[in-house]
Amino acid sequence: MINDKLDSVRERIKAAAVKSGRDHSDIVLVCVTKEVGIEEADEAIRAGVTDIGENRVRGAILKYEALNKRGGIRWHLIGHLQTNKAKKAVRLFDMIHSLDSLRLAEEIQKQAEKIGRMQSILIEVNVSREAAKYGVAPEFLEDLIKSVKGMKNLMLSGLMTMAPYAENPEDSRPHFRRLRELRDSLSSYNCDNIDMRHLSMGMSGDFEVAIEEGADMVRIGSAIFKGAS
Ligand SMILES: *Cc1c(COP(=O)(O)O)cnc(C)c1O
Repeated sequence: MINDKLDSVRERIKAAAVKSGRDHSDIVLVCVTKEVGIEEADEAIRAGVTDIGENRVRGAILKYEALNKRGGIRWHLIGHLQTNKAKKAVRLFDMIHSLDSLRLAEEIQKQAEKIGRMQSILIEVNVSREAAKYGVAPEFLEDLIKSVKGMKNLMLSGLMTMAPYAENPEDSRPHFRRLRELRDSLSSYNCDNIDMRHLSMGMSGDFEVAIEEGADMVRIGSAIFKGAS
């Protein structure tokens, strides 16, 4: 069942890539397991999933311990990270999609330096400016990037956003387009530890639109694990 839904999601990713003249193999499917248990996550991995997304450190720990020994799995933190969880996060996640403050950047840097690793991060941008959303406001993005430039254990690899909830996926398009434009406008910051190539955007309800607007990481949970596809 998970297998069939995964196939269907992969087909839709492929179709969206073709439609926008892109190579579907450049698009990473981050399978979001936050609402399922170890068994379902394991089933997805056996069906070929290589990238797992969790929105909380706590929720990821048991799955990591049970499943990481299979090897070849990349772990993504997609939800808000509290500073006091940075230590755990750095030990668990290959990529943190939710950097949203200077203070958090400093803490991730400190923890990554302690264990001698380079931590891949994306900056979460609150493109839609919803009050209830995490993420950096677009006008503060440049300052944060300038600070990250001096943090030698951080590898800044791009931007992430969440569109406001909407019935119609087309409503997400302007937000995704804005994130791509922001990314493009920041490419002059690229240096040793900054390479703004990833755009993490698109979820079950709007990933095709996101791909059309340039997403190369889509975070999909319910389309894989819930109901009829
Ligand atoms: C839950 C979640 C997703 C996946 O949402 P679905 O609608 O289940 O695909 C993607 N991104 C973030 C940040 C999430 O919290």
